[in-house]
Amino acid sequence: MTVASILGHKSGAQIFSCGPDDTVSSVTKQLTDHRIGAILVIDDSGVLIGIISERDIVRLIAKRGEKALTSSVSAAMTDNVVTCLPSDTVTMLMGLMTENRVRHIPVVVDKEIEGVVSIGDVVKARIAAAEREAAEMMQYISSGV
Ligand code: AMP
Repeated sequence: MTVASILGHKSGAQIFSCGPDDTVSSVTKQLTDHRIGAILVIDDSGVLIGIISERDIVRLIAKRGEKALTSSVSAAMTDNVVTCLPSDTVTMLMGLMTENRVRHIPVVVDKEIEGVVSIGDVVKARIAAAEREAAEMMQYISSGV
């Protein structure tokens, strides 16, 4: 199973992003409205320059208190973004998530953002694959081959 197949099942899914000068408060609204855990930070030309997740916001609130909400995204984001390719396997993706302790990985090809895969997408894909295999096995057994 590849990253491309996961993205295929998410086709039409929007890529949510913000700019480095947006406020943390506006990001909390996007995260809530879209029921997601992280947003990509892009520059004026659409190039990925960071990622900001719920954890970054919690950390900034612990550090700055209520001032965190009026802080700019650049104060909270992670700028060394771990990305993957559509051709990467889901096993590779799980390895990246575990090694880097992240739950969101943008899919980037030649600086073009093709999507984001979350740990939830990976779990969903693994469950669907296990169910498919079980159904195939049942069909094979009941066909009496
Ligand atoms: P998450 O587990 O995805 O909510 O993120 C936990 C921490 O890792 C936060 O500091 C994020 O900014 C950071 N993070 C999340 N995804 C990535 C990624 N793909 N590359 C680098 N850092 C990330």
